[in-house]
Amino acid sequence: MAGLTFNKVVKRFGAVEVVRGIDAEIADGEFVVLVGPSGCGKSTLLRMIAGLEDISGGEIAIGGRAVNDLPPKQRDISMVFQNYALYPHMTVEENMAFSLTLAGASKEEKKQKVERAAEILGLVPLLQRKPKALSGGQRQRVAMGRSIVRNPQIFLFDEPLSNLDAKLRVQMRGEIKSLHRKLGTTMIYVTHDQIEAMTMADRIIVMEAGCIRQMGTPLELYDRPNNAFVAQFIGSPA
Ligand code: ADP
Ligand code: MG
Repeated sequence: MAGLTFNKVVKRFGAVEVVRGIDAEIADGEFVVLVGPSGCGKSTLLRMIAGLEDISGGEIAIGGRAVNDLPPKQRDISMVFQNYALYPHMTVEENMAFSLTLAGASKEEKKQKVERAAEILGLVPLLQRKPKALSGGQRQRVAMGRSIVRNPQIFLFDEPLSNLDAKLRVQMRGEIKSLHRKLGTTMIYVTHDQIEAMTMADRIIVMEAGCIRQMGTPLELYDRPNNAFVAQFIGSPA
């Protein structure tokens, strides 16, 4: 497990600066929700944490260690996306074990790790099913299972629920929070949904145009927004 530090983190695409000097500390085990309008740099920031984008300036440290030059595989991070493509020809068990298979894990190790993840996620009765025989929510749980078996230090979620209908979204919010309680791992959760942010976060980071406008608990942001953008975004009385 590990916390994260951002020190003047910048991302440029060509001449355009899309992340503009982010400073923040995320504690070990915290559930942080990153919110902001479309295009403000949320996914880019996550991708830099995961090592899927180079950092143009500043530093990101995980557990006190700068990771700017560390390849994604060595970062011990798992990312859950909204398009949770499962392998259709594999069972749930095989889908969840796949990254372990690639890493050369033994049969026994795979069995043990998949069983633990399946228990945490309530997937034990579904292990022998194929993805097409699962509901949307069950598929999303299998996608999370694929992350859990790797036992990452940090989970990143990039709008994981935006393809689900409203009812399922509410249920999955609860499941992700329950996963956080069970694992105690640092999680960063990106959404553009204020309700998701307010109900799930230990702390919220509000971003606009590549900058952090405010970071705080849901109550702090609601009661004492620093600026009109945060007030309007969070929906607190002006
Ligand atoms: P968000 O996830 O908050 O919607 P993104 O991080 O995806 O925003 O994008 C932030 C900005 O960076 C947007 O203006 C987007 O068009 C731009 N951008 C993202 N990826 C690239 C890329 N590979 N090349 C050029 N511009 C990009
Ligand atoms: Mg995005």
